[in-house]
Amino acid sequence: MFPPTTTFGGPISPAAARRIACDAKVTPIVLGGKGEILDVGRSRYTFPAAIRKALVARDRGCAFPGCDRPPGWCEAHHIVPFSQGGDTKLSSAVLACDHHHHVLHHTDWQVRIASDGLPEFIPPAWIDFARRPRRNHRFL
Ligand SMILES: [Zn+2]
Ligand SMILES: [Zn+2]
Repeated sequence: MFPPTTTFGGPISPAAARRIACDAKVTPIVLGGKGEILDVGRSRYTFPAAIRKALVARDRGCAFPGCDRPPGWCEAHHIVPFSQGGDTKLSSAVLACDHHHHVLHHTDWQVRIASDGLPEFIPPAWIDFARRPRRNHRFL
């Protein structure tokens, strides 16, 4: 296996590849030892347009506490990673800007959908020992 690469060129880390694949039209391509293409997987939008529209209507921008980035700056984050069997549905997705999408993938911040259907974020213990959920001010 070669390291993941992007169409913009250059290798990227596996962690970055997983983050990009979290909200992307993913076309898996398997390369053989000499670089020949062995298999071109089916392209698919992990979040169909209808779900993305509903997500924009619900979150109205990055849902991270304190963030004001509008929907156009945001990616859809799978709360349960698609690679771990997370469903592609509104109740398992949240809008996050590029920065906060990084935060969700690379730090101990967690996100979940509360019983009222809105996203809430659980800070790492070093920020709040009690790990009380926080919300974006749009939802308060
Ligand atoms: Zn993500
Ligand atoms: Zn944000």
